[in-house]
Amino acid sequence: MIKHGDLMQKLEQIYEGKAKILYKTKRPHLLIQYFKDDATAFDATKRGTIVEKGIFNNKISARLFELLEQAGVPTHFVRLLDDRNMLVRKTEIIPVEVTVRNIVAGGMSKLLGIAEGTALASPVLEYHYKSDALHDPLINDYHIQALKLASEKEMRKVGKLSFKVNDVLKEFFAQRGVTLVDFKLEFGRFKKKIILADEISPDTCRFWDAVTGEKLDKDRFRRDLGNIEQAYKTIFEKVSSSV
Ligand code: C5P
Repeated sequence: MIKHGDLMQKLEQIYEGKAKILYKTKRPHLLIQYFKDDATAFDATKRGTIVEKGIFNNKISARLFELLEQAGVPTHFVRLLDDRNMLVRKTEIIPVEVTVRNIVAGGMSKLLGIAEGTALASPVLEYHYKSDALHDPLINDYHIQALKLASEKEMRKVGKLSFKVNDVLKEFFAQRGVTLVDFKLEFGRFKKKIILADEISPDTCRFWDAVTGEKLDKDRFRRDLGNIEQAYKTIFEKVSSSV
């Protein structure tokens, strides 16, 4: 019999990424996801610390995962444990980063030579192969099938869920005066189902103030714009408000 409190106990570390650490718990299908303050950009060639980023991203992700669960999107989120830790389901991560774009920015602006801020007639779904060494190259459904990264059926689900996430988050942020420009998702397999994993935060989304256009996300770090901590705090406050 595992007591409730025992789930808070971190066992062996199984993974350390650039912004998070995953630990085993006493339950084989549950992990603790710990959020660090470390920030990296451009495939970790730029490194720094954003004070209390881990606390904001843990809480922002928790709130957004709850919102998505309520809207019928299955996620790995179980519950918040404390400021920097959340309990999550252990998934087998599909090595494909899914990007959804509503407005041209960042990678799409560079790739196609279109000015940042250009509106898109419909959302764009992109896949990138998860590999820092290769700089997360753009791939398509054919690469994914041919390399057996995921099945056709799994990717249909991934696509459907990604657009659903976009619909829910776009509306949620619009109500709070924030434009959801683009974001990156990661999915995993859990008990033969596809569920949303990783995090949803200013590290993985572009958020622009709907009135001023001010950037409220990691681009402030990537582009040395200053006031980084304030941007994360602003998004945390907006996400926490009931409007
Ligand atoms: O750089 P790019 O324009 O492709 O990024 C699209 C979105 O995906 C941005 O919101 C960015 O923060 C996010 N992203 C991410 N992790 C990466 C690459 C991009 O979270 N490795």
